[in-house]
Amino acid sequence: MHRRARCNQKQLAKTIHHKSSLLIALFERIHAQHDREEQHERIQHFKHTFIYLIVCALSIFFFRIHIQIYNALVGPFHLNHDQFVTYLQIYNQNLSSTRSRWFSLNEEYLQVEVGEGNVESNQDQSLYIYDDEYTRENILASLYRVRESIIVNSLYPNRLYIKFPGLKQRHSRIYHSYRFQAFTIRTLRCIVRHLQVPLREYSTWFEKSLYLRVIDERYKQNETFFNAIVIPSCGILIGYLYRPKGELAYFPYSRIVYQFRSYDVGFDASYPYYPNTAFILGGIIFVWLFVKSLFYLILYLLHRVFPSKLVIKSNVQLHLKELGIESLQVLNNHLLATSNENVYDHRLFLILDQQYLIMFNIDLNEHNPSMLRQFYTQLPFIGISISSIIKVGNDGFLINDNKKQKWIPFPAINRTMGDNKAEWLHNHMMLINKEYQQRWYDEKRLAREQARIQAQKELEAIRFEALVREEEWRQAVHYGNDLERMWERVTSASPRYITRFRLNNHHQVTSFQTDVLASTCSVCLEKFEIGQTYACWPCEGQHMFHYACMLDVLRAKNTCPLCRHSVEAASLPDRDIVLRLMLQRLFSRVAI
Ligand SMILES: [Zn+2]
Ligand SMILES: [Zn+2]
Repeated sequence: MHRRARCNQKQLAKTIHHKSSLLIALFERIHAQHDREEQHERIQHFKHTFIYLIVCALSIFFFRIHIQIYNALVGPFHLNHDQFVTYLQIYNQNLSSTRSRWFSLNEEYLQVEVGEGNVESNQDQSLYIYDDEYTRENILASLYRVRESIIVNSLYPNRLYIKFPGLKQRHSRIYHSYRFQAFTIRTLRCIVRHLQVPLREYSTWFEKSLYLRVIDERYKQNETFFNAIVIPSCGILIGYLYRPKGELAYFPYSRIVYQFRSYDVGFDASYPYYPNTAFILGGIIFVWLFVKSLFYLILYLLHRVFPSKLVIKSNVQLHLKELGIESLQVLNNHLLATSNENVYDHRLFLILDQQYLIMFNIDLNEHNPSMLRQFYTQLPFIGISISSIIKVGNDGFLINDNKKQKWIPFPAINRTMGDNKAEWLHNHMMLINKEYQQRWYDEKRLAREQARIQAQKELEAIRFEALVREEEWRQAVHYGNDLERMWERVTSASPRYITRFRLNNHHQVTSFQTDVLASTCSVCLEKFEIGQTYACWPCEGQHMFHYACMLDVLRAKNTCPLCRHSVEAASLPDRDIVLRLMLQRLFSRVAI
């Protein structure tokens, strides 16, 4: 069963060569794999950003940023008297909440209906914050107490102060974004009364809209009056609850300083609504995450509905152009037209018509995603002109690429044995490329020649050493026991020097060397004759002797007989050793 399956696989591998879109199919698989992975990535991106979006939304809710949004879009929260009392009690219990304009997370912009006459109007009872406490000219803010009994009792023993801006402050001159329609008719009547609308006019108004129009109109005519008189008188407050702890304030007609304590509660009506930093940051992050997740989702859906078509990438196209092949389809046809003996293992294709070798780095039948992934960016195949192949090695081949030599490795295949790409390619190259064949033979010849030279060198070295031994032996026989000679430091030339001399210094006297023919050898005192071999001492005078005469001299002494120039000497024992030997010899004679 198992064997049959493997057998089928082999047959499949053989027949795949004859499928019509061998190469195109491979590219399509690579492309599809890449597409799948990109889609996966997109959906992952979407998932992650969506999770962040949820977290962001939850944290926005947790930090009550929705209140900020409400404040920014709709205006202040409206609280009537009873709601305010409840709110105040909750706020009062939570002592830790302190105000900071930039980092508070739950600051709520409130519009409170305390009611007419409930804010202290007696200025002696109020506290003031001055720009300069000595001159007391510029009032920055005034703090009015609330005297309405339910509010006072609900906070007791703590007190609630309303902080209004001083008359010279900018905030006292601006139009506040009240939502007047939230107030009761009673409060609205109080407002119009203080705006000096005659009673006979408004006594018949039962619709809030009638009040709103007049109030809005008059408020815009004189904001300062409205802010300074109408707001405290009718008890319509707009601002924030806060803890005035640590602030210093003064009574108007005494030097007594009042420092607010931790349990005092303030209602700050002296600064306008600012969107909170946290709100802005949260909003930006939220919008960004929303856009991002939407972007990935749309991208994913678009690719799902319109799957991308196979695009031959520019590196493949460029490579085909270099090879002079018009398109992938043409190459595909070339591959299919290649006969079986010119294909090795579906990896190497010799396209003889075009004189190209196409080598695949991936199996043409590959389905493994990790392999397909790799070849999205890499070239799945390379094409090489057959004429540029210089040499085939065991794991690749050398090519001539624009006058530069380049090593192209064979694709790695997980196969333990029986992979003979190198042999196959070499054999084919020998058949189809005359240059390759010639180069290969030349190389072989050169290698043989080099081997021969090497062998000769080795032989010469052996011969040299043999001659050295011979000279050493000769010196030992002649002078080995001559202690007097050693004592006098007389020595032969070294055996190596003599050997070199014997091997190299052969010159023959010719008839043209008239000066040589006129001179005599100063060793044997005979004239040089044509055909005799001679040699020169390497001294300044280049003194000339018969070859045999000079050899005799070197074997006896290391100095030139004429000028005493010395050449490399044979080694001598130290004088004290020589002396000891002499003494030994003397004593042994005496003993005999
Ligand atoms: Zn001579
Ligand atoms: Zn000399």
